[in-house]
Amino acid sequence: MGDKASDCVKVAIRCRPPSTKEINNGEESIVEMTEAFGEEGEAGQVVLSDPNAHDEPGKFAFDIVFGLSVAQSQIYESVGRPALQKTFEGYNGTIFAYGQTGSGKSFTMTGAAGDLRGIIPRVNEELFAQIAEKQSSSTCRFLVMCSFFEIYNEIIFDLLNPVADRTKLGGGLQIKEHPVMGIYVKDLTEIVAEDVGKVETLLENGNKSRAVSSTLMNSVSSRSHSIFTIKIHQKDEEDTSRNVFAKLNLVDLAGSERQKGTGASGQTLKEGANINKSLSALGNVINALVETANGKKVFIPYRNSKLTRVLQESLGGNSLCTMLATLSPAACNYEETMSTLRYANRAKAIKVSATKNEE
Ligand code: ADP
Ligand code: MG
Repeated sequence: MGDKASDCVKVAIRCRPPSTKEINNGEESIVEMTEAFGEEGEAGQVVLSDPNAHDEPGKFAFDIVFGLSVAQSQIYESVGRPALQKTFEGYNGTIFAYGQTGSGKSFTMTGAAGDLRGIIPRVNEELFAQIAEKQSSSTCRFLVMCSFFEIYNEIIFDLLNPVADRTKLGGGLQIKEHPVMGIYVKDLTEIVAEDVGKVETLLENGNKSRAVSSTLMNSVSSRSHSIFTIKIHQKDEEDTSRNVFAKLNLVDLAGSERQKGTGASGQTLKEGANINKSLSALGNVINALVETANGKKVFIPYRNSKLTRVLQESLGGNSLCTMLATLSPAACNYEETMSTLRYANRAKAIKVSATKNEE
């Protein structure tokens, strides 16, 4: 174990363009942004106006602010590339997308084809491009391993080894803690990836298992948290004492919107309660970490949900963390947008530190 890197949680805000439906409905855009892409000395700002003018506009400062016309490639440059760089250096990292359903979490993390590729496919491409370059010019050798799971209704599902009938899985996979390796998901499939294509296939298959179940269980993807993890292990063929390993978690959280009382019953209601359990547990952990950063000694309730337990080391432990909060510009989403901005604003204060994983 060697160097240490300390930083605050990096918070980035992205607002998507108005949808066709919002335009057709004549929805007013209530988000104004001063953009900043994370360069030294830049100061981004988000101003949110109350469409009913009851409240003063909310003003928030963030280091990274992406307006509606910012390209996927820029999001990668400001958020994805630096995280991958740190992973190569041996620091664990996490990027998580937070926001209400329809605000652009999956578009940002996964995206679509071509220029619309999101952070995950771009990390994948750059990962193998850099490995090829490093392997051709040095005696470094790399092993990449991937896992992909989702937390749905407080149950962990392995997306790389899906079960045909989820209801037979019982409580799902369990979270364990290893004295050296830390917190992990027991029996989670880890697949060695030797090239870009392999990771693409894993992602495609994993996303398909999410999609399949969404027809069975009310739109699982907006109600579940998905976590794609890339582990990089570096060895030096000549200097065998050098051994660097780190993982990067790429997290697409469930929609942050409050459950509405209308029509929710049975399974849906239970889901709502459990999703709220994970997301409100995340909120409570963030609050406690902010108090800790302010010098108070408080208990951090990581064990209150699967999500916070899995993310424990990313939030308060050995990991560098980026929170990417996504916003809708529409007046009808004012309250959810305000709540996302407040959440993101609080998270700015959290201090994280990561130790280089090197032997
Ligand atoms: P979420 O995952 O938060 O529920 P999505 O990523 O599925 O939301 O986005 C909702 C819709 O908005 C999708 O059709 C998506 O393609 C579109 N969208 C989201 N963000 C952007 C953006 N920055 N630019 C263009 N379209 C976007
Ligand atoms: Mg989504």
